[in-house]
Amino acid sequence: MAPGLDDLYRDIILDHYRNPRNRGRLDAPDIATQGANPLCGDEIEVSLVFEDGRVADVRFEGRGCSISQASASMMTEGIKGKSVEDVRELVSSFKEMMSGSFEPDEEEFGDLEALQGVRKYPVRIKCALLCWNTLLEGIDIFEHAKRHAEASA
Ligand code: ZN
Repeated sequence: MAPGLDDLYRDIILDHYRNPRNRGRLDAPDIATQGANPLCGDEIEVSLVFEDGRVADVRFEGRGCSISQASASMMTEGIKGKSVEDVRELVSSFKEMMSGSFEPDEEEFGDLEALQGVRKYPVRIKCALLCWNTLLEGIDIFEHAKRHAEASA
């Protein structure tokens, strides 16, 4: 954990790290991607199923630092029930928050807001972004495959 992180933020991050939400793997996922952050040794695996165009369920597996794992736990909570479009929007808002160009709305962002405290530690931003980039890659693959299937149907 980064020293000097705001106490409240640190408590939220540690809570997700110690009690990760939605941990595990789905049996027949629409999306299953893995990502790694070699700088820190973080690994994340995201699996997700859609139903009626919305995220019906999402799980993550992983290991690494508290920031990478807490971010994944928060992400799964943040995207459940959202459409692909809304998920993409949340990913870009989150990235903007981490780059400092966006002040999140507490109500909409919930616990995710705590990760903006990590901004003070540029090296750790990669830890916080790992699961989001992994998710984005999965969505890109999924949508590409879907377009391909539609084109050849
Ligand atoms: Zn890390």
